[in-house]
Amino acid sequence: MEKSRFGNGSRRKFLYQLGAAGMSIPFISMTSCNNGDERSRKQSVTTKRNNAGKLGIALVGLGDYATTQLAPALKNTQHCYLAGVVTGTPAKAEAWKEKYQLPGKNVYNYENFDSIKDNPDIDIVYVVLPNNMHAEYTIRAAQAGKHVICEKPMAISVAECDQMIEACKQTGKLLSLGYRLHFDPYNQELIRLAKEKVYGSVKKIKSAFSILTEKGIWRLDKKMAGGGPMVDVGIYCAQAACYVTGKEPIAVTAQTFPVSDKTKFIDVEETVNFQLEMADGIIAECRASYSEDECYFHADAEKGWFELKPAFFYVDNAGSTSDNKIIKFPPPTQQLKQMDAFASAIKDNAPNLVPGEMGRRDMRIIEAVYQAMNTGKRVEIAKG
Ligand code: NAD
Repeated sequence: MEKSRFGNGSRRKFLYQLGAAGMSIPFISMTSCNNGDERSRKQSVTTKRNNAGKLGIALVGLGDYATTQLAPALKNTQHCYLAGVVTGTPAKAEAWKEKYQLPGKNVYNYENFDSIKDNPDIDIVYVVLPNNMHAEYTIRAAQAGKHVICEKPMAISVAECDQMIEACKQTGKLLSLGYRLHFDPYNQELIRLAKEKVYGSVKKIKSAFSILTEKGIWRLDKKMAGGGPMVDVGIYCAQAACYVTGKEPIAVTAQTFPVSDKTKFIDVEETVNFQLEMADGIIAECRASYSEDECYFHADAEKGWFELKPAFFYVDNAGSTSDNKIIKFPPPTQQLKQMDAFASAIKDNAPNLVPGEMGRRDMRIIEAVYQAMNTGKRVEIAKG
C-alpha cells in the first residue's frame, strides 16, 4: 500500500512507492460476486435503512486514495455513503465487504462492472483508477445510468474529456471531478482574499507542487499516467491560479530539464516549470517535480501578499499574509464536503461546483504546457 499523500498528521516528505496496489494484477475474475446470500441480503436491508435518503457511491479502484481518504470520508458524509466497490483483487473485495459491511451484490470486478446498471443501491460511480482508465470507466458508468465522479486528471487527452462529457450528456447523468480543494477552507480563503481585494488586485502568482517518487510506479508510465508531475501535481498549481484569479490562462510557456535518472524517468518529465498568462495579464509561475518536496501558493497583490505553505495537502495546509496574519482553520474535511456537494447537486439540484467542463479546461492547459515544453514556444489557448 502506498503511503497516504498530501498530509495526514505532521508535515513530512511525500513519497510515491511501488506498493501493493501498484503491483497487483487487477483483471482477475471473481466468481461469486453476486451470490445474494442471506447475510448479504440482511446487510443490504440494514445498509439501506441506516442510509435512508443518502445516495450510494461505488468506488472503482481500491488503491491508496480510495482506501486512505475516500472510504473513511464516506463514513461521515450526510448525503451519500459507501454502497459498493469495484476491484480486480478478490482479497480486497473480501476485506472491504467485511470492513464496510458491504453486501456481496454490491461488490463488482472489472468484468461484471457493467451489470452495476441493475443495482439501485448505486447512484454514483467514483472512478479512482490510473489516469488512462478514467475515460473508459466514466463512460461505462454513465452508460450504466450512474452519475460519475472522476479523479484528477480527468483523462489523458482533451479528446477523451469530450467523450466523457458527451456520454454523461447523452445519458442525462452528472459528471464531477475529484477537485477536493474547492472544498478546503484554506484554498477558499485564498479565493476570498483575491476576490475581495483585501491586499488589492493580485499581480503575480508563484506556486509549486512537487513530491518524491520511487521507480517503477504507474505514475512514471506515460501510457497510464498521460504525463509526469505536470498531470499529477502541476495540475493543482494551474487549478489554483484559475480559482484564485477567477480567470483562465490564455497562453503558456514551459521548460523541462535533463532527468537525474534515465532508467527512472523514461518517458515522463522529472520536473517542469510552466508560466500561465492569465486573461487579465497576471502571470502564474509554477513548478512541478517528481524529485522534490515542495507545496505552496503565493500571491503578490498591490498592497501586500498572501500565501499557503503547504497549499494543497489534505489536512496540514497553513497560511500567512504580509501583515503577519495567520490563516488557520480547524482540520478540513475536503473529500467529505466534495462528495456531499455532488450528492446535493444530484438530489437537491444544488450547483455542480466542479463539473466535467472544468476537468476538460485543465486538460487543455496541460496539453498546452506539454506543447510549449516540447517546442520551446509560447502556446496560446484558444477559447472553447
Ligand atoms: P493507486 O496506484 O494507489 O491505486 C490505483 C488502483 O487502481 C489500485 O487499486 C489498482 O489495483 C487499480 N488498478 C486497476 N487497474 C489497474 C492497472 N491496469 N494498473 C494499475 N492499477 C490498476 O493510485 P491512487 O493514488 O489511488 O490514484 C488513483 C487516482 O486517484 C489517480 O487518477 C490519481 O491522480 C487520483 N488521486 C487523486 C487525489 C486527490 O487528492 N484528488 C489523490 C491521490 C490520487
